[in-house]
Amino acid sequence: MAVIPTLEADVLRRQDPEMAELLLGELARQSTTLQLIAAENFSSSAVLAALGSPLANKYAEGYPGARHHGGCEIVDVAERLAVERAKALFGAEHANVQCHSGSSAMLAAYAALLRPGDTVLALGLPHGGHLTHGSPANFSGRWFDFVGYGVEAESGLMDHVQVRALARTHRPKAIVCGSIAYPRHIDYAFFREVADEVGAYLIADAAHPIGLVAGGAAPSPVPYADIVCATTHKVLRGPRGGMILCGSELAERVDRAVFPFTQGGAQMHTIAAKAVAFGEAATDAFAAYVHRVVANARALATGLAAEGLHITTDGTDTHLIIADPAPLGVDGRSARGLLAAAGMVLDCCALPHGDARGLRLGTAALTTQGMGEGEMAYVAALFASVLRQETEARTAREKVRDLTEGFPPYPGR
Ligand SMILES: *Cc1c(COP(=O)(O)O)cnc(C)c1O
Repeated sequence: MAVIPTLEADVLRRQDPEMAELLLGELARQSTTLQLIAAENFSSSAVLAALGSPLANKYAEGYPGARHHGGCEIVDVAERLAVERAKALFGAEHANVQCHSGSSAMLAAYAALLRPGDTVLALGLPHGGHLTHGSPANFSGRWFDFVGYGVEAESGLMDHVQVRALARTHRPKAIVCGSIAYPRHIDYAFFREVADEVGAYLIADAAHPIGLVAGGAAPSPVPYADIVCATTHKVLRGPRGGMILCGSELAERVDRAVFPFTQGGAQMHTIAAKAVAFGEAATDAFAAYVHRVVANARALATGLAAEGLHITTDGTDTHLIIADPAPLGVDGRSARGLLAAAGMVLDCCALPHGDARGLRLGTAALTTQGMGEGEMAYVAALFASVLRQETEARTAREKVRDLTEGFPPYPGR
């Protein structure tokens, strides 16, 4: 199966060698370094084939059976398939698969439920909230009045006492639960209870854990939240994009909030690729995959802790690990640089205590490549050795290259 069909046919190489070189260079980069960015993964060749298909040519404003363009009879079937698969996978009454990204899903969720100036309670950005949870640089912070809750300084766990107190004081119109950096399961029943107490809508931003939910390795927000927003490209391993799940009573409001309120024409190639990914995620193989993702994250967290890094919440329930490298004598930003030079690609992130930056990493991509707990122990040891500057960047880079050789993300290429 072609990973990049146009390249496979050598069309792009002949027509535009400059860009073909870049695409191949990026494939080589992804294949020979370790993708530890918690939000990244390798989607399958089947997903990439749908993305590179002629569905990309089709204009399809509106929804199946009610489009503003002709010639939609086939893409209508593709979108219905994506919607039905998403509903079945997550046990949701309604799914909107048109959201261009996780952020657009959040924009549409707010548009469906709120008016400008409404108060929203969400995890504060320094504690792991996303830009769409009230950053002043984002529409959310500009158009709504966000109040931030936090995690406890000692445990790193969400401060439920504070959530309840802030909800009672500020009477928000909506409460958002979800994070870019929280490594533990979220107690959706708790958030539902608080939302009911103060008469707020509950929006779950499950962009990170939705893939774990699909495979049964994390609790589902669907029975608790009024609206669930998600991405399809993180642990879920589909194309870059977003999705909204909700009950039937909000279906129409959500659909109108996506199109025509916040988006134009749907990207039918991406929607087809989402359907392919939902099909993959419904298999036993995917359930086994997400459980391996979590086992690998636990093994990596244990390995890093044994090397002396401080792991927030003392571990993880998910694919995600937040580590403070300070005990090894290096700050987050320098650590990211040292690791990048060694071929270990990850992000910095805020730490719940103080101003120091930490490291955010995840195991979704390495697990897709077939790595297991033995490789996690190896990576943890190499990681720490690079941070202590006991292993030179060039030596570490070679070790990483050797390791990745045994685990090609797209075998046969
Ligand atoms: C990744 C993420 C998003 C945004 O997704 P994009 O597709 O990058 O817009 C929103 N919220 C949370 C919690 C995320 O982790």
